[in-house]
Amino acid sequence: MSGNWLRLSKRLGLYLRDGMACVYCQRPSHHALGQDGFSVDHVIPRDGGNNQAANLVMCCTKCNSSKKDRDLEEWLGSPRCPAVGTPAEVLMRVLQATTTPLKPHRKAARLILVAHGYDPKYI
Ligand SMILES: [Zn+2]
Repeated sequence: MSGNWLRLSKRLGLYLRDGMACVYCQRPSHHALGQDGFSVDHVIPRDGGNNQAANLVMCCTKCNSSKKDRDLEEWLGSPRCPAVGTPAEVLMRVLQATTTPLKPHRKAARLILVAHGYDPKYI
């Protein structure tokens, strides 16, 4: 999933909250703004979930296109799932990420985006 359904500061704030790496396979981003093949995944798929930070995690495009709109447990139990670790370990990482407050990370994201030349009005 890509596009502008999330404000840029919220997207980067989520990336910072999640350590600039895919929560599922732990592949790190090497771009200051995470613009090298990363997106945001709905832990609970969009039709049953929401756009709150507690339902969103940083995700690489490989994991995102593998998971699609499946429930997390179903995806983790599927063959060729690229997530790293046991399902319990992945669930613990997701739980840790989604229960961490976004606010301070979003504040940092705004500073980083402004430093990269983004207009504060549009982030
Ligand atoms: Zn991944």
